[in-house]
Amino acid sequence: MSKQRFTAIGRSNKRNRIEIKEKARRSEYFGMNVFNEEKMRQFLTQEAFDQIKASVNSGTKIDRKIADQVAEGMKAWAISMGATHYTHWFQPLTNATAEKHDAFFDLTLDGKAMEKFGGGQLVQQESDASSFPNGGIRNTFEARGYTAWDPTSPAFLYGATLCIPTIFVAYTGEALDNKAPLLRALNAMDEAATAVAKYFDKSVTKVNATLGWEQEYFLVDKALGYSRPDISLTGRTLIGQSAAKGQQLDDHYFGVIPIRVLNFMKELEKECTKLGIPVKARHNEVAPNQFELAPIFEETNLAVDHNLLLMDVMEKVSDKHNFKVLFHEKPFAGINGSGKHNNWSLATNTGVNLLSPGSTPMKNLQFLTFFVNTIKAVDTYEELLRSSIASASNDHRLGSSEAPPAILSIFIGDQLNKVLNELEGVTNGKLSPEEKTDLKLNVVGKIPEILLDNTDRNRTSPFAFTGNKFEMRGVGSKANCAKPMMVLNTIVAKQLQIFKKEVDALIEKKGLKKDEAIFNVLREYIKTSKRIRFEGDGYSEAWEKEAEARGLSNNKNTPSALQVLTSKESISLFKSMNVLSDVEVRMRQEVELEEYILHIQIEGRVFNELIYSYIIPAAVKYQNKLVQNINGLKSIYGDSYKKMAASQLDIVSRISQHMEVIKEKTDAMVEERKKANKMVDVNKKAYAYCDKVRVHFDEIRYHCDKLERLVGDEYWPLAKYRELLFIK
Ligand code: ADP
Ligand code: MG
Repeated sequence: MSKQRFTAIGRSNKRNRIEIKEKARRSEYFGMNVFNEEKMRQFLTQEAFDQIKASVNSGTKIDRKIADQVAEGMKAWAISMGATHYTHWFQPLTNATAEKHDAFFDLTLDGKAMEKFGGGQLVQQESDASSFPNGGIRNTFEARGYTAWDPTSPAFLYGATLCIPTIFVAYTGEALDNKAPLLRALNAMDEAATAVAKYFDKSVTKVNATLGWEQEYFLVDKALGYSRPDISLTGRTLIGQSAAKGQQLDDHYFGVIPIRVLNFMKELEKECTKLGIPVKARHNEVAPNQFELAPIFEETNLAVDHNLLLMDVMEKVSDKHNFKVLFHEKPFAGINGSGKHNNWSLATNTGVNLLSPGSTPMKNLQFLTFFVNTIKAVDTYEELLRSSIASASNDHRLGSSEAPPAILSIFIGDQLNKVLNELEGVTNGKLSPEEKTDLKLNVVGKIPEILLDNTDRNRTSPFAFTGNKFEMRGVGSKANCAKPMMVLNTIVAKQLQIFKKEVDALIEKKGLKKDEAIFNVLREYIKTSKRIRFEGDGYSEAWEKEAEARGLSNNKNTPSALQVLTSKESISLFKSMNVLSDVEVRMRQEVELEEYILHIQIEGRVFNELIYSYIIPAAVKYQNKLVQNINGLKSIYGDSYKKMAASQLDIVSRISQHMEVIKEKTDAMVEERKKANKMVDVNKKAYAYCDKVRVHFDEIRYHCDKLERLVGDEYWPLAKYRELLFIK
């Protein structure tokens, strides 16, 4: 019998709590481990400080002499804080972050020991990390990769290591990471949005996309988590009978946070605060042992870095508190999975949220402009946006009747729908003074009041307007937000460019006034993007049918969702916005398909191990016990044993029936895996893993879960849901 489960239960019952005291004033130590403005002023020359600021604000290059000065200042600060190493911290195409630590320690030519860190080491580092996913690019171009400093995200101290956020690119220029394309998309957004914002306020010189993510996660006891091969290797339970009590009582959601968890949260938030991650909200989520953490929103590049860093800190802190944190989108069947809502908006350097209505008609027209253009962009590129959140693990949520559906649609609420419907009636061409006045007073002018009581929130919508921002809800809890943010900002930037051209043309060629031209263009966008607006129940079958009739895509799995990446339209979009080249797009598609294949392959292998090394041996052992008992009864009572052993006989035969199906399906799955593995074409292989291999998982699971109910508890080798899901 596998003892792991019982040893783990014993351990989890004897946990000593680690008490954490929170410091009352976070503002006092917020960012203490970050080389932020305050430290830059202290450790840099004025000249170096000014150049960094200029680089952050307008992307100007930092020259080598200044880089040396910055490196010197950074080193002095880091060493004063106890740092021994530095690393270029980057985001390869794996959803995780990567780092290679180098000691500051070095030897001079004459062998004297010193601490060394110069501009060269700060700005660029050769990366011999040739086994990161690269979709064949490196082979094709024989390019080595290097990491390059991103001065817009401040360096920070993590443990005894100075971490320098960097991009990761091939020597031939192709991006090998998630950050480089995101920065390009944000740059495109800045240019396009600033040009449009200038219609309303000439003093705007920069627009930042903002992001506020909401991280959902599960915690399980560390010993219990590691006692199961599926949780250890795939981050989820491949099998497991639902506990009698799940989330049906709704007693966990926003309930009292268990003390052991609260201590974890306190320490986590303390660490985050030191690292400058502005964490704000913490609460229980819907499912037992599910929680959420949300920060104050930030500029998108920084917010993405902070989310990645957060996930790393969570792994470390949870381990210390004897938890295993699960970021998987669907760790447990039968209860809610986890997501990472991406709240997104646009902010000007003058401090205005472009998706927030204001106090004057002009401000509200500005709001409408950005609002309608976002809707139009999502309508045009809905399938591409869907592709940005595709992954093997997120497939368990999207399109599996769990929030939100794989179909993209936008919820804006009744009131804003009314406004857009009225705007559809705007006259073509010049507007009469009466119409203008009416629009300003009765349509556009009413928006702020409307928004104040726009409280009805449709939780089933994948892309909802929530008062002063859009909330993209399909992002996976494990995902790097850079992917969806790269796509969203690219498509909206593209749309704003088109809008600007159309408005300018109406002004220059048709002699319309600026506001008339804007109304005219918006009217057409409202008309042509109607299909993406949906206020009803996104989970219903009726919506699936209707969405199909509307021509919206409904890609339920990753291989089909990823196809659109290499369509002519997508490639020309990314190219025209200088976000991704043709080669880079193809490489990304290949890497993601590969990743999908590997995930399903690993799950398939773990299934094998579970079935042959855990489930069947346990079932046989229990069955033997029953057979022994039946034989005993027979030897004592002769023929009447049949009546006396009726239950035992029934269980014995049911165990055999389930084992038979399990073995048959597992072997069939292995055969399909072998076939798929021989395929050379990555696309075909991904589809094979999806349609031929993965399809067996549910059935195997079904019978394993039946066995779990039949087999005596002391024989069952895997920690059960009730043990995993209710922290003591
Ligand atoms: P709710 O909790 O009802 O969804 P909140 O206003 O608390 O709404 O916001 C949720 C998340 O949205 C938070 O992470 C917050 O930082 C983020 N958020 C708020 N305003 C913006 C904005 N302008 N841009 C990006 N994210 C935002
Ligand atoms: Mg939310």
